[in-house]
Amino acid sequence: MASMTFDGIGKTFPDGTVAVANVSFSVADGEFVVLVGPSGCGKSTLLRMAAGLETLNSGRLLMDDADVTETEPQDRDIAMVFQNYALYPHMSVYDNMAFGLQQRKMPKDKIDKLVRDAAEMLDLARYLERKPGALSGGQRQRVAMGRAIVRHPMAFLMDEPLSNLDAKLRVQMRGELKLLNQRLGVTTLYVTHDQVEAMTMGDRVAVLKPVFNGQESNLQQIDTPQKLYDKPSNLFVAGFIGSPAMNFVRIELTAEAGTLKAAITGTNISFSIPAQPALSVFAGRQVIVGIRPEMFKVCPEAEALFNEQIPVAEALGADTFVFFDIASPPVNINDAEDTEDFPNKGKNRLVARIPPALTPRPNQVLPLTVDLEKLHWFDPVTGAAIR
Ligand code: ATP
Repeated sequence: MASMTFDGIGKTFPDGTVAVANVSFSVADGEFVVLVGPSGCGKSTLLRMAAGLETLNSGRLLMDDADVTETEPQDRDIAMVFQNYALYPHMSVYDNMAFGLQQRKMPKDKIDKLVRDAAEMLDLARYLERKPGALSGGQRQRVAMGRAIVRHPMAFLMDEPLSNLDAKLRVQMRGELKLLNQRLGVTTLYVTHDQVEAMTMGDRVAVLKPVFNGQESNLQQIDTPQKLYDKPSNLFVAGFIGSPAMNFVRIELTAEAGTLKAAITGTNISFSIPAQPALSVFAGRQVIVGIRPEMFKVCPEAEALFNEQIPVAEALGADTFVFFDIASPPVNINDAEDTEDFPNKGKNRLVARIPPALTPRPNQVLPLTVDLEKLHWFDPVTGAAIR
């Protein structure tokens, strides 16, 4: 096993597309790190660079302390699991798992033991003679895993390995993969665009965003799932992690004796909070406040911060999501140079999570308050969290 270090990695394709810029992070020995982000954020390119399938324009890649930037893929001692599993259809499960070892001219009896041990671990022993076409999607996925495991590599690289499975199987397999990783203790770098998969599987999660020039970095934050949720470092991470997503509201901030008055832009809704140094710097300016859906509470009308009609309520059984509009310009989190130049200008739809017993009738007015101590504050120009 090994640690893996990305040190100032950059990749610009020949057509000028900047896919990756200034990415630095390490995966510790035995750690499971997930790369997550929207389409085009460079996660597959980073993984392919780790595998040696893509060259780097800048930076270095280390395994333990050895520089492998120029090392050929076959000499890197890593195993990759792809989205489409890349199984050989004409070969049995046994041969699919044994193929890489046979290529390396490993003795037959040693191969046999490795394949049968992996098949046992993955509950595939009964299927060793079958062809991939006669397996379910989940079983095929396990064969792809088996083929990686038998090599006893220093690290696993996985590119959306569960995305071809149906929703229920995906949930089951993500638990199994995580358990397997804990048992084997192999350093793993795992790519997904699904933030729930990232949060449930990663020891740490790296949130990436597309870059359009070489100036910024794709890497927005790398932290434990809980830390990403509780302390997102900027608007992008705050908006990407969490479902339904965090609500964002524009605030005009003014200082009054010992307190800060926060007025929601374009409305007559306001509240006061104790002065705090990092926020007081923004007095006289606009800031952005983030409210997670579960931070709203249904309250008596006299205590309401929001008292709006609820045009849409989604009752999911354990929770109800209620949606309502405030007459305030929305916030575009994908653009740090936030311009207000966005569809639905002047109207911001918010979502609150409430207990199902309090589900309102259509268009009922619902008084809601917010736990003001838990609000997230952001600089509207840089997008950085204010704390
Ligand atoms: P997805 O989730 O859609 O697979 P991703 O986060 O994995 O996206 P990448 O595939 O790494 O993103 O692509 C990052 C950027 O690099 C994208 O803008 C993509 O269009 C671009 N890109 C990828 N491969 C090439 C290539 N061979 N030539 C030019 N641009 C490329």
